[in-house]
Amino acid sequence: MRWTEVGRALLRNINVFRLVPRLLELQEENAELRRSNLELQEKLQKARRQAGTRLSPRGYRYQDGDETPICATCFETKQLPVTLTPPQPWHGGVRRVCPVCGRIYWDEPPKPAPSTSVRQGRRRR
Ligand SMILES: [Zn+2]
Repeated sequence: MRWTEVGRALLRNINVFRLVPRLLELQEENAELRRSNLELQEKLQKARRQAGTRLSPRGYRYQDGDETPICATCFETKQLPVTLTPPQPWHGGVRRVCPVCGRIYWDEPPKPAPSTSVRQGRRRR
């Protein structure tokens, strides 16, 4: 009787040891799924944040039903609808600036100065 119990216990232990590699695999798989889930949740949050806005070809965003440009960076990273400065003439172009993060958006690209090697704007006239 006692030897049978010992035998059962040994078999149980052997089975447990056989399960260890599988257990490690499952732990690794679980960690990978958690990472993947976190990534998907971040993407979903970003998509939800961007819902209700549209992206301008100039890089800034508009909230639905509003024609006031807001900073895409601040909106996407901090969910802040920061209104950009009014258009300002700047080095032959027209720009708007985010007063919070300082990002510059060009409505018209700046004109390169004749004596410098600044890259040429896309819509040079
Ligand atoms: Zn900003």
